[in-house]
Amino acid sequence: MPKLFGTFGVRGLVNLELTPKNVFDLGLALATHLGNKGLVAVGRDNRTSSEMFEHAITAGLTAGGCDVLQFGMVPTPVLSFGTRHFSCDAGVMITASHNPPEYNGVKFWDRDGAGFERERERMIEKIVARGGKRVDWKKIGEVNQADALEPYIRAVLKRTPKFEHKWKVVVDCANAVGNLATPRLLRKLGCKVISINSQLDGTFPGRKLEPVPENLTLLAKTVVDQEADLGIAHDGDADRTIVVDEKGEILTGDRIFALVAMHHLKGKKRPRIVTTVATSSVLDDVAKRLGGNVARTKVGEPEIIGEYRKGGGDIGGEENGGVFFFDWLFCREGIMTAVKFMEALDRSGESVSKLNKSLPPYFQVKKRVECPNHLKSKVLNVLVKRFKKHRLDRTDGVRVIFKDGWLLIRPSGTEPIFRCFAEAKTRSRAEELANLGIRELKSAI
Ligand code: MG
Repeated sequence: MPKLFGTFGVRGLVNLELTPKNVFDLGLALATHLGNKGLVAVGRDNRTSSEMFEHAITAGLTAGGCDVLQFGMVPTPVLSFGTRHFSCDAGVMITASHNPPEYNGVKFWDRDGAGFERERERMIEKIVARGGKRVDWKKIGEVNQADALEPYIRAVLKRTPKFEHKWKVVVDCANAVGNLATPRLLRKLGCKVISINSQLDGTFPGRKLEPVPENLTLLAKTVVDQEADLGIAHDGDADRTIVVDEKGEILTGDRIFALVAMHHLKGKKRPRIVTTVATSSVLDDVAKRLGGNVARTKVGEPEIIGEYRKGGGDIGGEENGGVFFFDWLFCREGIMTAVKFMEALDRSGESVSKLNKSLPPYFQVKKRVECPNHLKSKVLNVLVKRFKKHRLDRTDGVRVIFKDGWLLIRPSGTEPIFRCFAEAKTRSRAEELANLGIRELKSAI
């Protein structure tokens, strides 16, 4: 049976790997999984193929006897919110997040607004393989539309006091659905907002969707040119956020997570931070200062939610700028991350660069090496043998722990590559560790 789900739902090249027929089958499988009844929320991003797939998933779900509540174009956190708000039995988001415009994807959500756990994704795969159950014509589901965005915005505003300072913020949502929420919210909270790449365009002409430094040069430049206090960028479905300081320096995702955690968890008794093996040691520093602890999982949204369900937690996050606020939504929440970061900044009354300096510095180097999927597990075994003299963490790939830093080598769940992360207290040491990792990785392949 083919594995359909990667680290974040099903992804593929539109009309080649992911066709309307596949998406119909996924909808029918979900309906079958739900017992051929119930209400399913459907949201989509603004890719050129997303409306087509919205129709396909709706056809599959209704053919399987589920009613469908369409939210239209929404950021992923709004789909998660809306699934719970409208008491749906499940949710479906049509998005390929940060992938290029020729990709799309399907991601399933539980009634509580959390992404499906791996186990349920496996159940869906099995139903797709054997074929879902279509219902009798009298039981075909109904299709209705609802607005999830307005109640979402109201709910965010209800829990966020207006900022005391008038911050000047440049927002870059990459011509994608983040534009529907973040600029408006920040304006309502008292910011002066300058938007770039703010028209919705499914070809994403402004920049690549992944909020990584090489794609944020215009944002950084605009912040400096406009003498703004900061810049905020989302990925294609606004479940991730990256911040640029007033000098145009781009903060890493785990740094943003750490600063937000420091603010959000202040006053909490023994807070528990849930994160992955790929995030900075700065999270350990935050936990130490707050008298709490850090639980580290495999990489991926379902892992963080899984750990939260097992052992509880107050905040969760990944190194890519996706933060979970468990008292708000069980979804990676880029929009709330932006709001909470602004809140932390407003409370401090300092510049972003000063706020950033309130935590100890770390340097990270991230690299990637191509490797065919079928070789990945063999390569990993070779690497473990090569590093066996060091302290190893095998939670995900292999994390080699040195006295003055760490090195993580792990196979990507979505692409034929290995990712190699290194972190240390100095840049040169981080480079050295990353180069060691790349050398060993290449020779193992
Ligand atoms: Mg995303």
